Amino acid sequence: MSEQFFSIQQKSSECPARTGIMKLPHGDVTTPVFMPVGTNGTVKAMTNEALNEIGFEIILGNTYHLYLRPGTDVIQKCGSLHDFSKWQKNILTDSGGFQIFSLPSLRKITEEGAKFRSHIDGSEHFLTPEKVVDIQTALNSDIQMQLDVCSPYESPWKKALGALIITEKWLNRAKQRWNEKCDEGYQGKFFSIVQGNFFKDLREKSAESACAAGISGIAIGGLSVGEPHEVFSEYLSFTSALLPQEKPRYVMGIGTPDYILEAIENGIDMFDCVLPTRLARNGQLITHKGNLLLKKSGYETDFNPVDPVCNCHVCKTYSRAYMHHLFKTKEILFSMLSSYHNLFFLHNLVLKARMAIQQDCFLSFKKEFLKKYYGS
Ligand SMILES: [Zn+2]
Repeated sequence: MSEQFFSIQQKSSECPARTGIMKLPHGDVTTPVFMPVGTNGTVKAMTNEALNEIGFEIILGNTYHLYLRPGTDVIQKCGSLHDFSKWQKNILTDSGGFQIFSLPSLRKITEEGAKFRSHIDGSEHFLTPEKVVDIQTALNSDIQMQLDVCSPYESPWKKALGALIITEKWLNRAKQRWNEKCDEGYQGKFFSIVQGNFFKDLREKSAESACAAGISGIAIGGLSVGEPHEVFSEYLSFTSALLPQEKPRYVMGIGTPDYILEAIENGIDMFDCVLPTRLARNGQLITHKGNLLLKKSGYETDFNPVDPVCNCHVCKTYSRAYMHHLFKTKEILFSMLSSYHNLFFLHNLVLKARMAIQQDCFLSFKKEFLKKYYGS
């Protein structure tokens, strides 16, 4: 009944790239879309006003972090994560799976759930697929993700298979709980996750269960986890070709211009990453001619904008020399301005990609962009 939330607007004739619209409780989201990550209910160094000014229609929240701090009860008392953070557009929450399985203090995964210790105070917690749906529903997430088991890069086949089998069982339990929540009036969407590490038979098996009926969209997990670029490319195109056309596809954890364009070329509609804001805080700014290392010497008297082609207010107002000075003096303003620029840059890149798909010239757009981007 709620299946028609995603509609494809335009398909490329040259490759699987497409544009579309997702109708979500907090407004429409045009795709392809880059989603900034707001781990603790805030995109680091960015105000809601700045995110709105750039034009973001959806951001991420991290279930694991918000569950531990401030706690689901605090957010629920306030109403929702939107009410608490005052971000009034859409929020996608991850399931916490990736964080839990990256924790050194993970105690035990059983078919029932995952037992782990908080990285904050060492307290012990037990999360089940149902509980993770409950938490994301309490946050009033617009898109929630299933709890999955991620096997680390270079895991043996058997270990990756074991992770898959639990992920499949957890998907069914999570979906059932999400259906119950929808019956009670919850309007958020529910995405499954394709795992399978770097084994094609496992990717196929996982895609089959992840594409089961009733799911709003499908994510590809376990990519961009340290594998060489050509392996990423191979598994991105292999896995995305297994997914149904009519549902939105999401690749988790990619945030560089080249990977984003490659994902779009393969028909991916959504992506997120902490990288652009993390790079920004560390003095790396993304530009049309590659990344600018503003922290390095050589910019002391460079009064050019960060990126002369960028139309963001940082590039229109401030110079590289001033930005370099702010970095060197560890001013908070540096993180704010550099995060703004990097997010503006990626948002704008995706906007241009969307236009190129509409004009059916995506591949030449990508080629032109990457020539300059890799050129320097
Ligand atoms: Zn800029």
